[in-house]
Amino acid sequence: MEANAVNWEYQSLDLSTPLTYVKGVGPARAAFLEAKNLRTVEDLLYYAPFRYEDRSNVKLIRQLAPGEMATVLCTIRSTKVAGFQRKKLGLFEATFTDDSGANLGGKWFHGGYLNDILAPGQRVALFGKVEFDSYSRSLSMMHPEFEILSGDDDGDASLHTGRVVPIYEAAGKVTTRVLRALMYRILESLPQELLDRGDPLPSHIRSRLKMPSRGEAIRQLHFPPQEADLRLLNSFRSPAQFRLIFEEFFWLECGLELKRAKARLDPGVGFELTDRVRERIKEMLPFKPTGAQKRVLGEIAQDMAAPHPMYRLLQGDVGSGKTLVAAESAIIAIENGYQVAILAPTEILASQHFFYFKKLFAKLGYHPILLTGSTTAKEKVAYKKLIAAGLVKLIVGTHALLEQDVHFAKLGLAVVDEQHRFGVEQRQKLLEKGAGKHPDVLVMTATPIPRTLALTIYGDLDVSVIDEMPPGRKPIITKRADQAKVEQVYGFLRKQIELGRQAYVVYPVIEESETKAMKAAQAMHEHLSKVVFPDLAVGLLHGKLSSDAKESAMEKFAKGETQILVATTVIEVGVDVPNATVMVIEQAERFGLAQLHQLRGRVGRGGEQSYCILVTEKLNQIATERIRTMVESNDGFHIAEVDMKLRGPGEFFGTKQSGLPALQIGSIVRDADILEIARSEATAFVAHPPSEDELRRAVLFIRSHWQRRYGLVQVG
Ligand code: ADP
Ligand code: MG
Repeated sequence: MEANAVNWEYQSLDLSTPLTYVKGVGPARAAFLEAKNLRTVEDLLYYAPFRYEDRSNVKLIRQLAPGEMATVLCTIRSTKVAGFQRKKLGLFEATFTDDSGANLGGKWFHGGYLNDILAPGQRVALFGKVEFDSYSRSLSMMHPEFEILSGDDDGDASLHTGRVVPIYEAAGKVTTRVLRALMYRILESLPQELLDRGDPLPSHIRSRLKMPSRGEAIRQLHFPPQEADLRLLNSFRSPAQFRLIFEEFFWLECGLELKRAKARLDPGVGFELTDRVRERIKEMLPFKPTGAQKRVLGEIAQDMAAPHPMYRLLQGDVGSGKTLVAAESAIIAIENGYQVAILAPTEILASQHFFYFKKLFAKLGYHPILLTGSTTAKEKVAYKKLIAAGLVKLIVGTHALLEQDVHFAKLGLAVVDEQHRFGVEQRQKLLEKGAGKHPDVLVMTATPIPRTLALTIYGDLDVSVIDEMPPGRKPIITKRADQAKVEQVYGFLRKQIELGRQAYVVYPVIEESETKAMKAAQAMHEHLSKVVFPDLAVGLLHGKLSSDAKESAMEKFAKGETQILVATTVIEVGVDVPNATVMVIEQAERFGLAQLHQLRGRVGRGGEQSYCILVTEKLNQIATERIRTMVESNDGFHIAEVDMKLRGPGEFFGTKQSGLPALQIGSIVRDADILEIARSEATAFVAHPPSEDELRRAVLFIRSHWQRRYGLVQVG
């Protein structure tokens, strides 16, 4: 077809036109596009290239010089795969020729799969670095980018070469080339002013940040101007990309802000902060809170005093003293005549919290109870009665507390430990326990992430951060040790124990088999207690023990009756034994970064120098990166950031549990800087909209677009 032809079919295109009405999109292509959530013209226009290639240097093969980057339009003469054993992994070689009569070679290591894609006679565009192959004494390209030019009707070659071209992630069988042609056609037939007219971005923000109009941005996103800076484009910072990323974040943040604002209007408990409450808190405190703890308690207390529900995320590195702040908050609720529930992800952690609170609150005359899955039936019945009658004020437990038959007389505050394992559904259940009013909710997490990111990921939560460690802590010294030298590690461990300290030795839980991990831990316990440290008391803790046995193992270690505790990752969170100074992690390469950091956080809780020793065998690249990060850094924020980069945000946050929408062009990790700007603009916009009218328009826009595309919930 001719690129400039005016076709009546296109004239009626607008943003909401279904893609099936666009020429070149049949049912098969539409289905592939649909699978990527691309249904309308607008969806497609916002489908951003993930890379650009400068194919403006088009040359004939005869003109090529070694060392240059060039595009050649040529024909495949021959192909072959070497390495018959593993075809897919073989070396793929091809020769190409063009009108200049000269030949060019191409080589792809592990390129065997190309045998099904490239065949003699095909017209292709190659793009790559020209090299002189001394073996064949001819010019060739290693792993050139290629695009098949023949055999379709998708625009002429000048669209795909001879310029900076966008590269899209293919949508099933809809290739980057087809996508490029579709974009071109749509933009041809969609007047720019139509895109500009509907620009939803508030104009004062657009002009202040000097961003291009929507029409301009979308055009340049797909077909950058000839003078565009390729480096900027490929780092997603061209003016067009900036604007579109900003826009995506801006609406997301506006949506979240509106949702927060709406939640703040729900009826909740307004706790009174009397002098008596303050006195009681002082009475309870075993030590002087850090500045960060004080500031954070202030933020929480302010929320609690407001007659609306609190949804606050309390972030702080392991050992930063979150639990103490939670205890202070609990006093506010209890002194106001309300009950407090503390929810922990595991039984071990629940019982840890239980003992911690029991000790703290004994002075005040409060007696917490512990309710978990393994509480005996008889006790359960009794406890439930006490809870329903309002006779206990502080209830610590696992998610068993959320079961339907647990009725609270007057639940005022719920403290939830570990955001990651606490889903939206559980939160809903909790709200239903509030007897008419939403209880305040404080969520604690030891996987801190930058504030803006947290506000985005955890949607409707406000965020407080404890960014200071209790005084007198020495940074933990972390070392890597080779499995072959584990005897030296044990020698070191013995020396620490001779100094009166204690140690953990941890084994990985291999996901497929908890039983295997238990056996490994059991075997190691055997080995350590009989062979290596026959003279010492070595305890054992793993997930398959009865809860009594778990509790007693923990208690013996806490009291110093055992010097070494062999454990699986059940000790990952919350365990608090300040005299333990050595954490040995065996097969450390099997643990994730967040998990390693959590485990390390079990030591360094007292004033003594603590150590973490990562025993490893063979390391792949990512494991090497993880171990190195651990050795180099003690900073939970930094570690979370690296972890997020290594694993990708989706897996890092567990997309199911967080409200993280699948973003189209922006990336909360790569584009953290733009997210920051967008968030501050959005907050300002929602708090002080230029006019009621403008705000209403934004709300409508978010409802119609953002919610449809990203499935965000109600924004008011
Ligand atoms: P987190 O829950 O953040 O991992 P914890 O609340 O368990 O941390 O506190 C870690 C350790 O530090 C505990 O032994 C706790 O008693 C102690 N701690 C907390 N706050 C302070 C403080 N302000 N001064 C001294 N020690 C503190
Ligand atoms: Mg804690």
